[in-house]
Amino acid sequence: MFEKILNFLSEDIAIDLGTANSEVYVRGRGIVLQEPSVVAINQKTGQILAVGLEAKKMVGRTPSHIVAIRPLRHGVISDFETTEQMLKYFIEKARRKKIIGPRVIVGVPLGVTEVEKKAVLDAAKSAGAREVFLIEEPMAAAIGARLPVQEPTGHFIVDIGGGTAEVAVISLGGIVLGKSIKVAGDKLNEDIIRFVQEEYKLLIGERMAETVKIAIGSAYPLKERKQFPVRGRNLVTGLPEEILISDEEVRKAMEKSINQIINEIKEALDETPPELLADIMSNGIYLTGGGALLRGLDILIKKETKIPVKIVEDPLTAVVRGAGMVLENLDELREVLIQTKELEPPK
Ligand code: ADP
Ligand code: MG
Repeated sequence: MFEKILNFLSEDIAIDLGTANSEVYVRGRGIVLQEPSVVAINQKTGQILAVGLEAKKMVGRTPSHIVAIRPLRHGVISDFETTEQMLKYFIEKARRKKIIGPRVIVGVPLGVTEVEKKAVLDAAKSAGAREVFLIEEPMAAAIGARLPVQEPTGHFIVDIGGGTAEVAVISLGGIVLGKSIKVAGDKLNEDIIRFVQEEYKLLIGERMAETVKIAIGSAYPLKERKQFPVRGRNLVTGLPEEILISDEEVRKAMEKSINQIINEIKEALDETPPELLADIMSNGIYLTGGGALLRGLDILIKKETKIPVKIVEDPLTAVVRGAGMVLENLDELREVLIQTKELEPPK
């Protein structure tokens, strides 16, 4: 009864605080918000000027005293205060019922330390949550992909985000094995910046590099040649210049990083217990996160591992949809959450 009243007065929320993008799901309403994990700050006053989409537009375009930062860039909270402000902003923006604080499930990267867990819990509490639960992102993604995670069968998830590429083997509602490397979407952008600088003496920004990656980037040779115009500043003449870059060049630029991700996958397969490996060989490898959309990555992984590869539907929202499904079915799915003291049922 008491629980019902609480639910009537508040809205439970699931959040994927990603290194590149954050998504918010409200119980009963679905995904209500999807914005970049960026905060613009006035360094002179410490004031937050913008969060999310508005702040991303400022990246690389700010006067010197305004900085646009990504507080979760490397997968964990590197800047607690800014993360807290961002979380607050997203929760506030998503909520309609504001009388009682919501219960909040937050997706966190694999292998977060106790200190980082505490930081996320504190941030969510101070953002107004009355109860906070944490879930590992690959677990949430697997649930979002509608995999039967609680059954005694092995599931293999690869989540390639902005800051980290995480690999997890899941069975019986738990993570049997997990790996995380700091080579993912951001690194691929940096690879493209470096390549264009070395080959063409052209200086380009992060957003340009990401545009190129999304427009013509690939992990495996394409059937059709693609080219893309790249604008930047010539480092020799100092003048603006436009060059044409090919899919082959972009692939070459990203090759080393892609191989690091492939090796991470192979290492995880190597460490997977034989029974679960047998399951995975028939169930396949599930690719999620924005990096799953890189052309031909599925083909390359299949070729390198000899295991079928599936791209999760709408890979950018799998984590938040999964966390949302846990919110909707908390009683059945409680075991998939990270066990912290805060997870004990309220007295
Ligand atoms: P996170 O969970 O860390 O916030 P996301 O799952 O939102 O990350 O993925 C963001 C990353 O995915 C970015 O590096 C972005 O460049 C990359 N990305 C998005 N769409 C594509 C695409 N079509 N091809 C390649 N990479 C993409
Ligand atoms: Mg994510």
